[in-house]
Amino acid sequence: MTQINNNHFLSRCPLCSSSEIYLVGALNYRYNVKFSTHIINFDNIPQLWTCKNCYSGFTQNAITQTDAETLYSTGNGTLRWSGTKFEDDKPKEVSSFFNTFLKNGMKVMDIGCNTGEFLDFVKDKKCIPYGIELSKDSREVVLDKGYKCYSDFTNIDEVFDVITAFDLFEHLYQPNSLINFCKKKLKKEGLLIIFTGNIGSINAKLAKNKWWYTNYPEHVLFASRKYYSQLDNFSISTYLKTYASQSHEALHNNSSFLNTIKNILQGKFTGNPALFKDHHLIALKHMP
Ligand SMILES: [Zn+2]
Repeated sequence: MTQINNNHFLSRCPLCSSSEIYLVGALNYRYNVKFSTHIINFDNIPQLWTCKNCYSGFTQNAITQTDAETLYSTGNGTLRWSGTKFEDDKPKEVSSFFNTFLKNGMKVMDIGCNTGEFLDFVKDKKCIPYGIELSKDSREVVLDKGYKCYSDFTNIDEVFDVITAFDLFEHLYQPNSLINFCKKKLKKEGLLIIFTGNIGSINAKLAKNKWWYTNYPEHVLFASRKYYSQLDNFSISTYLKTYASQSHEALHNNSSFLNTIKNILQGKFTGNPALFKDHHLIALKHMP
């Protein structure tokens, strides 16, 4: 077990830099939580905060970026995150969206590619797959599949038709470095596609600081639709509300509406099973 001094505390919104930020509430977390494959414990109580200007949310008393990167890069992502096929993991409407535009020969970069599940999907569509992955163990699996895979944003000479980030944005301490990378490495009218939890969803609004997706300490950033819509040099070309995965969708379909309402009234609602779709896919067209 590793004891962590989780003292990453911000005076401004990490997305729009507004100082109009306020506390939503303390975050629920268990002792001896898992971060990647490490068991860790904390000095401070984590909190969920929100921004009055861009409506995004973020974690205070997060673990520091340095600690997070060390834990990810030394953790074994191949054990922690399942290698389920992309089209069996993500909701059908997400795969269908990619089927509408992925074409022969397109260069597709997946940031945070884990063991290459989306890259396999991309290869089936006759596109050229590229990945970035921080975890050494996961990267080796991707390289063994024969795909190009980098450890970070540096030393990449290619320019891409599509850049994707699945289940990644919520982990970012410096979202601007990802956005700036995409501005440099996306072709004109190329697409940046982000898939993450939706803090503007009814689930998140009802669950507040009890929202399951805050998932302390791994998730630290919950960007709103407004944030994505105001990014320089990008415009939203597709906005799709969806579920975290097919299993979350199944959980929603099999849940008891009455139980959910009871939980909401008793202040116990965590947003899981979801009452409505609680994730979003945002496709941003690059307009340099
Ligand atoms: Zn903000």
